[in-house]
Amino acid sequence: MSLKKYIRDIQGFPKEGIVFKDITPLLIDANARKECLEILVSAVKDKKIDKVIGVESRGFFFGMLLAQELNVGFVPVRKPNKLPFDTISASYDLEYGTDTLEIHIDAIQKGDRVLIHDDVLATGGTAKAVCELVERLGGVIVQCNFLMEITFLNGREKIAGNEIFAAITY
Ligand code: 5GP
Repeated sequence: MSLKKYIRDIQGFPKEGIVFKDITPLLIDANARKECLEILVSAVKDKKIDKVIGVESRGFFFGMLLAQELNVGFVPVRKPNKLPFDTISASYDLEYGTDTLEIHIDAIQKGDRVLIHDDVLATGGTAKAVCELVERLGGVIVQCNFLMEITFLNGREKIAGNEIFAAITY
């Protein structure tokens, strides 16, 4: 089954000039969702994973499914002031301005083998900030995986040195 069939292009969202890849058709179809999960899981088979990180908010969907399937802990990385306990944060550049992500200081133990998941790898700024958070807490990044990678934006260059996997590429 081609999973691309379940990704919908939305012209002009969230603003003019952007073509947004909408994953909700993939979420709503149980068979497509299952197949996508199997592809992501098979890419980390035999790599020992201790924790899965899901990036707010679309990284939560498959991040939690992955954690459940691998039978390991799930850790949310969130936008500022959403996590209630002590956090560390990392900022990254956007086209205009910056954005920040946070993680609980006790979410990753030194040496934990971590799988980072988000829905899309675009410019790589988000993923790079998440990698920084994991490294600062002493975690070992086993893989960064994504539902899809938008290759012409060269996001993988920002997180070079890490293993990168995407179920769908554009
Ligand atoms: P980056 O930091 O790599 O430029 O952007 C990736 C982040 O922005 C991800 O957290 C992702 O959810 C979001 N994102 C950027 N473009 C898209 C898109 O076309 N579709 C979806 N679903 N998310 C996107």
